[in-house]
Amino acid sequence: MSDDNGNNREIKCTDCGQLMVTAQFVSGVAGGYPELRRSRKGALSAQTHTAADCYVCLGCGLVKFYAREPQELRFRTEK
Ligand SMILES: [Zn+2]
Repeated sequence: MSDDNGNNREIKCTDCGQLMVTAQFVSGVAGGYPELRRSRKGALSAQTHTAADCYVCLGCGLVKFYAREPQELRFRTEK
């Protein structure tokens, strides 16, 4: 389940241009992937969520998250 060879995407650091590698973002609960969530008040606004992949630049330390399925974060009223 964990994928740490990073060959699903090649991402160059926007700050220093080096290749970014995948890393696990760990805070509080260890293991698994971080999750992005959106919620707001309203009957048509059930909470949305998707897993996120974490990339880090080994040169300057920039960290980036990419939502795995960003479309999953849309509320039903957002097109
Ligand atoms: Zn960098």
